[in-house]
Amino acid sequence: MFNIIRHNPILREVDCQETVRCLTMENYEKLLDNAYKNLKQTDSSSGRFEIPQIKGHHEGKKTILTNFFQIASHIRRNPEHFQKFILKELAASGHQDKDRLVLNIKVPSEKINQKIKQYVKEFVLCKECQKPDTELKKQGRLTFLHCLACGAKHPVRAKI
Ligand SMILES: [Zn+2]
Repeated sequence: MFNIIRHNPILREVDCQETVRCLTMENYEKLLDNAYKNLKQTDSSSGRFEIPQIKGHHEGKKTILTNFFQIASHIRRNPEHFQKFILKELAASGHQDKDRLVLNIKVPSEKINQKIKQYVKEFVLCKECQKPDTELKKQGRLTFLHCLACGAKHPVRAKI
């Protein structure tokens, strides 16, 4: 990087006898370096699909989840499918109460987050490119996860 800049005819006029300028050049390089690093960091973080954390509280022996259906729409999956999976995985029964999901048992949020992550991995993220731009498609008795980003198609559990 440094050499390329030094050999650039325009930049060669930068007078290296002038300490100030050399420092500036060095700083400029560092700046570029940092800018590049920052750029890379932003790229990788924006490329990763963020799963929202579950929000809720306990009411006696029940667990009230307040953003469950928001998460369903965020991951663009059928709320009933999502709910069925989570209830089964948690071995809980539950029902929808307006925009909340009420579970009949007390479950720690970490456990719910873990199950949501599992659902996303199995029914949302493309197995090839890891992107969330997918849809579930039924074909006969089989269900496929079809990726809109790369076109990959993978069978998933039809029954949950
Ligand atoms: Zn894909």
